[in-house]
Amino acid sequence: MTDIQQSLLDIRDALPQHVQLVAVSKFHPAAAIAQAYEVGQRVFGESRVQELQEKVDVLPQDIEWHFIGHLQQNKVKYIAPYVALIHAVDSYKLLLEINKQAAKCGRVISCLLQLHVAQEETKFGFSLDECRTMLETQDWTTLNHVRIAGLMCMATNTDDDEVVRSEFQTAKSFFAEVQTRFFADAPYFRICSWGMSDDFPLAIEEGSNMVRVGSKIFGQRHY
Ligand SMILES: *Cc1c(COP(=O)(O)O)cnc(C)c1O
Repeated sequence: MTDIQQSLLDIRDALPQHVQLVAVSKFHPAAAIAQAYEVGQRVFGESRVQELQEKVDVLPQDIEWHFIGHLQQNKVKYIAPYVALIHAVDSYKLLLEINKQAAKCGRVISCLLQLHVAQEETKFGFSLDECRTMLETQDWTTLNHVRIAGLMCMATNTDDDEVVRSEFQTAKSFFAEVQTRFFADAPYFRICSWGMSDDFPLAIEEGSNMVRVGSKIFGQRHY
């Protein structure tokens, strides 16, 4: 058993059944992913298109690849043929482009809307009001090749648990609002993607059912 495999199994054992683990493998080599794969991990998250492409080419076909980072519109076409879930949709234009590229591949791509709930300016995502406005237009309902499957957010990078907790609570109550208003008949609208290495236990307490964990599994990244 390698360190990666041990860490992964420890985390998986500790997760409640309803929480899905996305193993965030960005900046780690394909060999590290292969170790996680050997102990049964099938869902991996990457945040750079080119790096993802290189890994897809050399790793097993049955891996479910999630794109978790900021996605540029001109790169959607590269991942559209296979990506299983795009976590960080932060504009209607990006959703349109995903729809267009998915149509070309004859696919329906599941997406999460990224909310900006953190205090940092640098993080991407819709404000709650922007997200409401986008959904209220109903334009998205005509996009047959994307499926809005839930919400994603990142908390402020701080040691203050109460700040992090309140941001996750904001996301969770917004999820409930949006689900009732726009997705009442859509059972696929169910994903709450929040929680990373440092805050995933807290995120799960605050309603997350999909955590994106990198360094706690694979170790430090070398940029
Ligand atoms: C890198 C990254 C993660 C994982 O971060 P860790 O702190 O290493 O667990 C999760 N989500 C997103 C969007 C990321 O870019």
